[in-house]
Amino acid sequence: MNLFTFVKSQVSILDIIQSYTTLRKAGNYWKGHCPFHSERTGSFTVSPHKEIFYCFGCHISGDSISFITQIEHCSPLEAAKILIDRYHLQVPEDLQYQENPTEKKRYHHLCEQITQWCHEKLLKSSAAFGYLKERGLSETTIKAFKLGYFPGGLQAVKYLIHDMGRHSILIDDLIEGNILAKGKNIFYSPFEERILFPITDHVGNICGFGGRIFKSGDLRAKYYNSKESDYFNKGSLLFGLENAKKQIQVAQKVFLVEGYIDCLAMVEHGFRNTVATLGTACNAEHLKLLSRYANHLSLVYDGDKAGQQAVLRIAKLCWDQTIELTVVPLPAQEDPASLLQKGHDISLYINESHDIFLFFIQSLGVNFAQKSLSEKLSLTRTILETIQKISDPLKRDFLLQKASKTVDIPFDSLKQECLLQKTADIAVKEPKNTPQLALLADEQIPTLEKKLFCAIMQDISLFNKKKNAQYLIPFLSEPLQAILKILTTLLTTQPDIPFMQFFDLLDAGQQGLVSKLLLEEEHEIEEKEFEQLLLQLQKKYWKVIVNNIKLKIEDARRAADEQKVQELMHEFITLRKNLINV
Ligand SMILES: [Zn+2]
Repeated sequence: MNLFTFVKSQVSILDIIQSYTTLRKAGNYWKGHCPFHSERTGSFTVSPHKEIFYCFGCHISGDSISFITQIEHCSPLEAAKILIDRYHLQVPEDLQYQENPTEKKRYHHLCEQITQWCHEKLLKSSAAFGYLKERGLSETTIKAFKLGYFPGGLQAVKYLIHDMGRHSILIDDLIEGNILAKGKNIFYSPFEERILFPITDHVGNICGFGGRIFKSGDLRAKYYNSKESDYFNKGSLLFGLENAKKQIQVAQKVFLVEGYIDCLAMVEHGFRNTVATLGTACNAEHLKLLSRYANHLSLVYDGDKAGQQAVLRIAKLCWDQTIELTVVPLPAQEDPASLLQKGHDISLYINESHDIFLFFIQSLGVNFAQKSLSEKLSLTRTILETIQKISDPLKRDFLLQKASKTVDIPFDSLKQECLLQKTADIAVKEPKNTPQLALLADEQIPTLEKKLFCAIMQDISLFNKKKNAQYLIPFLSEPLQAILKILTTLLTTQPDIPFMQFFDLLDAGQQGLVSKLLLEEEHEIEEKEFEQLLLQLQKKYWKVIVNNIKLKIEDARRAADEQKVQELMHEFITLRKNLINV
């Protein structure tokens, strides 16, 4: 047993996948919406007995380890570690992985230590702590998010270098990690005199910081974020996700805000399922990440023009997301933090949420009648371009209905225009960035072969028992032949090999095909049926088989192996007798 088989033996694939998507029992399998691509009907299928999954929509497939590698974008070893942590598995000593102190690990260790160091400094700094209190944050929230304060001045940098040295972090590490920078004769930090917001990646490692000025008279840029690197990519990170994950999954809803303080203020007021972008616009990757955890995303953006513009941009890129998007309308001049701090009840605004597309049409339609003709045409086109990308026809019609009122053009004309645009644009519907591992042309494999193959995958012992399997493999189509050859080799040394062990040895394409064929077959193929299928195949290739046996008999005769000749004759007669009944 290795680490992967151990992990797989400890946690059911159903449990693992159910924390990303809801599955329902359907016969021998479980089905649900695919967490890898947008779809309206569930084509994602899991076999708890074989411990594999397959999506009939985007053809992604594999076992529990590869599920995690694909959904969390990590290596198999990282996937195993995620599952070990998540399910508190006790790994037997002989299976424990030895790790080299890799660059990545060193970086995370650095971020971890900086977080701790700055957090302690914050708790001791009345100015920094006072500022956060003033912004309405409690000690509990400050501690839960490990907020920090990076003190200023040469002395502070000196202490930092000294303290980090005790955790085997060198000055070079601090410079490399963008915590310190080198001046003429001194080291300084771009985070000096800033409140530090530690940011975690989707696996829970601290991977960077947002730093905010807080002293009056500080004229530097309001925010300073860690530099973009392999480990810190603002476009795919969300502040607060680690703390919010659980609550998001429970509520199946997530609030997205624009700033760190907004996020913390929401949490402070009981909306623990809130995350924030890192001072960058929300992009498709953020939406995809969030759609793994929830099916409803609510934007709580600033009420000012910039905030509203940001929402409009999201409306244009969210049409192919499975997640439902709504917009919480805040009064102009207010953001979530300011509103909450004034003691307003934000749930009143949440209750007023609109669907994002409706918001989009309404916003573009403000003062429509007063606009010039060219402006009107351009706005109408923008609205149509967005609506025609929505895959739900009912929703499309509903929005066209609304748009028709806004732009004062008959519904039928809009619909016709929309259809015209859609046919030109149909290619973009294909899911993007989805690993397509199992796209083998299995349509070309005859049903008979598929069934035979499937029967063997369902019960390997069937294959082992059949002596005449030699008249099976050569007649199968290529992907199947190669897979069964691997199985044959394995069976010679391990006649009772478990399915999972065999499956592990296949390449990704083969695994995909096996998963697909297995999950396509609705019922268990019994031994009797298998034999009948096998005879059908042999009947089809009867001439080839006869020729083959003839050649073997000739060989045996030449070698004067009379016993072998008798055996072959017997085999031939038995085979022919069986085939007569087919
Ligand atoms: Zn899929």
